Amino acid sequence: MIATMELTINKAEQSKLKDISLENLPFGKYFTDHMLEADYENGEWKNVEIKPYQPLLLSPSLAALHYGQAIFEGIKAYKNADGEVFIFRPYDNYQRFNVSAERMQMPSVPEDIFIEGMKQLVALDKAWIPNQADHSLYIRPFMFSSDELIGVRPSDTYKFLNILSPTGPYYNAPMRIYVEEQYVRAVPGGIGYAKAAGNYGAAMYATAQAKKRGYDQVLWTDAFEHKYVQEIGTMNVIFIIGDKAVTPDLGAGTILAGVTRNSALTLLQEAGFTIEERSLSIDEIIDAFKSGLLHEVFGTGTAATISYIKELRYKDFVMNFDTDKWQTAPTIKKWLTDIREGRREDKYGWMVKV
Ligand SMILES: *Cc1c(COP(=O)(O)O)cnc(C)c1O
Repeated sequence: MIATMELTINKAEQSKLKDISLENLPFGKYFTDHMLEADYENGEWKNVEIKPYQPLLLSPSLAALHYGQAIFEGIKAYKNADGEVFIFRPYDNYQRFNVSAERMQMPSVPEDIFIEGMKQLVALDKAWIPNQADHSLYIRPFMFSSDELIGVRPSDTYKFLNILSPTGPYYNAPMRIYVEEQYVRAVPGGIGYAKAAGNYGAAMYATAQAKKRGYDQVLWTDAFEHKYVQEIGTMNVIFIIGDKAVTPDLGAGTILAGVTRNSALTLLQEAGFTIEERSLSIDEIIDAFKSGLLHEVFGTGTAATISYIKELRYKDFVMNFDTDKWQTAPTIKKWLTDIREGRREDKYGWMVKV
């Protein structure tokens, strides 16, 4: 596969790194010296190039800006104590990227451009990976339609890019969550399972309303009955109920199949929990809370890894959790961080060396 890709590398004359401290970086604000860019034209990918990070020159009629054929991924690379660089489960993100592409009527991206291109880009900018604990390099591959035409149809041309942002530590205070009953994120038959830009735009209004009421995020519920829980903001959600870890199943296509979700479930199983992926109603959650069986609730996602929920509000019923006393989420979070930073055996083969 690698041999088929012609990759041009144009290096930046100077690194911007000397102007930036890699400690206490805000998420997603600073970008490394290089980016990868490729064009889809006439049914094939071409012009695969790593070049200095720079603005794009786009026509105002660019199709993506009007009709939203735009998808992305979020992945992290880590440096271990020996300075070796590893990317966490990039093949899972690669597969998901092409699932999103298919749903949005976009071309799939070949593995050599996505994976090999990512490895070469990360290798070139590896000085940007902070090697303190809880720091990493966030990798953002994305694709958008690039026809200069405002007729409504799938574009003939697309751009694939990959940019890198050093980040960490991602401090996330335990969150207050509002169970959403008016607005919805995803419906069966919709694009909830795709990592499409529009899903994020569509969620912002409801999130802003919840913030006005003093909450950090919403817990999305199903579109028909507002009864079955889906996700927390842009994170998957896991409930520890007795000796079970329960999370909404992916069946209806309304849940984004998170790589962190899958990793956390694998580690929860290793920790002795029974894993249940199934529909889960707010009534069952409240019953479990009342009977003292609902021990922990947390969100999972690449950016924050695991985020604790300290309050869950449904109508006027408030569930509070003393996250300081939790055992499970902190253990899973530690195991995951230790695997990523090379302090725990990578027995599932998640770390891909650059
Ligand atoms: C990206 C994303 C997640 C988390 O997926 P990870 O692969 O764990 O980062 C969860 N929900 C939504 C809606 C997302 O877009």
